Amino acid sequence: MSRQRGELDEKYLLLSKAYVAGKWVDGSGDPIAVDDPYTLETVGQVPRVSEAQVSEAIDAANRAFPQWARWPAKERGAILRRWYELVIQHKEDFARLITLENGKALKESRAEVDYGAGFLEFYADEATRSLGEIIPAPVTGRRLMVEREPIGVCVAITPWNFPLAMLTRKVGPALAAGCTMVAKPAELTPLTALAFAKLGEEAGVPAGVFSVVTGNSKTIGPVMTGSPIVRKLSFTGSTPVGAMLAEACAPTIKRLGLELGGNAPLLIFDDADLDTAVETAMVAKFRNGGQSCVAANRIYVQNGIRDRFLDAFGSKVATMKAGDGFEDGIDVGPMIDDRAIAKIDEHREDALRRGGRLIAGGASPGGRIAVPTLIGDVASDALLTREETFGPLAGVIGFASVEDGVRLANDTPFGLAAYLCSSDPATIARVGRDLESGIVGINTGLISTPFAPFGGVKQSGLGREGSHHGLAEYQNLKYLCHAGL
Ligand code: NAP
Repeated sequence: MSRQRGELDEKYLLLSKAYVAGKWVDGSGDPIAVDDPYTLETVGQVPRVSEAQVSEAIDAANRAFPQWARWPAKERGAILRRWYELVIQHKEDFARLITLENGKALKESRAEVDYGAGFLEFYADEATRSLGEIIPAPVTGRRLMVEREPIGVCVAITPWNFPLAMLTRKVGPALAAGCTMVAKPAELTPLTALAFAKLGEEAGVPAGVFSVVTGNSKTIGPVMTGSPIVRKLSFTGSTPVGAMLAEACAPTIKRLGLELGGNAPLLIFDDADLDTAVETAMVAKFRNGGQSCVAANRIYVQNGIRDRFLDAFGSKVATMKAGDGFEDGIDVGPMIDDRAIAKIDEHREDALRRGGRLIAGGASPGGRIAVPTLIGDVASDALLTREETFGPLAGVIGFASVEDGVRLANDTPFGLAAYLCSSDPATIARVGRDLESGIVGINTGLISTPFAPFGGVKQSGLGREGSHHGLAEYQNLKYLCHAGL
């Protein structure tokens, strides 16, 4: 029998209830419809939880915290490992759910499941490697000790562009450290988060340690940010919303993890290997259909290699296919909503109006489809250089000297990722040092991994996710001064 569009092997993973304090619950008021961005049909619905239900989830996390925090790290890690194995066991179902609600091409969804599950796997082990310190005392008879403690109840607010990975990047380190967590997924993509919570329950995560609340962000957000019980907010999303949430957290002095907007530059120098430069640009720009915070939004190419690069990059872009994410051979699925298409159209038309040259692709054909497009000779002040396009539109801007390139790359209030392509070790070292960003991809566009710290500088955020640094974000240092020895 042929499979229906987005049909899951395990039907129970398509959930329509929120997960609060270990129970699957309905909300209050009309449920929220979840739409397939390609067909625009409703494919699921989730509850609109009330303020009281958010408080209930936070209270349950608070009650569960002392016991969870005192469990041996090895046992917490064993649950994370089981959770990882369950996600991988249901990889195809997760990939279908992600494509169903987010639209991305199925191969990208599969890659997200591997990447996202990787945070559970990594932190399952990392939980047991979190060491304290003994500091040489400055006087006799004393021992100065430093312990790492979980910071307590945490809340997570995640975006729609990576419905699984943006969640596991927070849940993995939080639970490994001994914290408990209440998560609010994006309204557009809550189904993946609920399926993830279901497998957490199966993996043995105790009731209250992890809850998922769905609904209106303006109802849920203030309860989370205003609660004196909540000790940390971890947010991934846009810079204006992150700033607003940080302000709301200030009166209760919460720890903040903010993964915000990008506007990443890619610098291609005259001495770059052409194939490497094209491959870097393809991945850095078009991964996830360009709907990524680390997407190369501004591609600066030195004048000596510019024409050759545009030819080679343009030929590749012209072969890319946009369409239904469930269809074989599709590279870019539909965009998430009409606003996304409108922004891409605006950036493309603005770049062309200011003298840009259309090299591949072109106008959006209708619906939520954006055609992978390359524009050369983009003006350095075009709209697409100043705002994240968040779509499959690449603009190439020329530059003369290494200094010019670095100046252009840094001319932004953001600083999440930057990329450079060169085969000269001195250029790599110098530019790598001078780029104002939290992450630098050198001759590669593929930078994200659970093993390395991910995060930004400037208005791209605070804190890091991934690696042992990501675990430390969920820990307090406690200094114990033992006298009389
Ligand atoms: P967004 O509008 O800021 O939304 C992100 C999350 O915040 C969603 O769950 C959203 O909920 C919630 N939210 C919105 N307004 C809120 C409020 N007033 N109170 C509480 N929560 C609120 O961002 P987006 O458009 O979904 O995502 C795209 C942005 O995220 C881009 O700027 C991208 O660069 C950034 N991003 C950054 C990273 C990173 O690691 N740095 C990773 C991925 C994406 P609703 O959807 O329910 O409104």
